[in-house]
Amino acid sequence: MGILGLLKTGENLICCDDVSPETYEVFNNIAPNYGIHSTFLDVTDTEKLHSCIENNTKLIWVENPSNTTLKITDICEVAQVAKEKQVLLGVDNTFLTPYLQRPLELGADVVMQSATKYINGHSDIIMGCLCTNKSDVNKELVLMQVGAGLNPSPLDCYQTLRGIKTLNLRMDQHLKNSVILANYLGQHSAVEKVIHPGLKSHPQHNIFKIQASGHSGIISFYLKGGSEESEQFLKALKVFTVTEVSGGGESTAQIPFLMSHKHWKKGRKKQLNITENLVKLSVGLETICDLILDIESALDSLKPNSKCR
Ligand SMILES: *Cc1c(COP(=O)(O)O)cnc(C)c1O
Repeated sequence: MGILGLLKTGENLICCDDVSPETYEVFNNIAPNYGIHSTFLDVTDTEKLHSCIENNTKLIWVENPSNTTLKITDICEVAQVAKEKQVLLGVDNTFLTPYLQRPLELGADVVMQSATKYINGHSDIIMGCLCTNKSDVNKELVLMQVGAGLNPSPLDCYQTLRGIKTLNLRMDQHLKNSVILANYLGQHSAVEKVIHPGLKSHPQHNIFKIQASGHSGIISFYLKGGSEESEQFLKALKVFTVTEVSGGGESTAQIPFLMSHKHWKKGRKKQLNITENLVKLSVGLETICDLILDIESALDSLKPNSKCR
């Protein structure tokens, strides 16, 4: 919400299309009440981005990686476009944290972190922050923070201070576990496709490697089949908890089509490849063998003859 402090009635923003449902809610449903219009597009296409910037465009908003299909945007390239057109660039860095990626150093003007996820890392608070290295941007954000009361509670701050002390240790373990699990998923016959920016198979892996020092525990993958298979897969999991919560120590799994994105129009989801067979994992800190065995038995339960066993 705080980011709206940078825009005035009649100004526009451009946001990446595969955005988190929370941000989509703010930009698509709340901002218009204040006369702020949002355009959602694939910002990895910088040519298109360039042509969509209008005189009253004030902000470009990018999630990197994007929420569900983990698309990677070349931040330096978009920052160049933003600078040229005198538009602010904001980057949602939630999935990587400053430990793995620092968008201000790559040319962004504002960075958002949902502290609810990895920064706190214990799934017991709701918090977020906006960071900037520009004093005029900071002034507008502070005005909004104080005016709208966007301040976290003392207990949430205490929990976050505790959590952040182990950020590096946790991120190293998330990273290690997710790479092993993504490779495992990639060779399983029940899996159609795995999306993990740290794998060479990711279409923007080369850009990712330059701007980030590794990926976190977020993996998206497509099962072979449809909603029946993905629901059966979730039901069979024992170590992974089925929930939309992500970024904590415990591994979680969800089907965005049916859960986090259930209120989105089907056409919009289809356009973004958020289909019924897409599973999103938040790989936690557990022993990797336990995670692989859990995923393996859930995938094996999808084999057509498994009902007869
Ligand atoms: C979860 C998430 C958010 C929203 O954060 P909350 O702290 O839950 O409000 C925003 N952006 C991304 C990329 C997210 O994954």
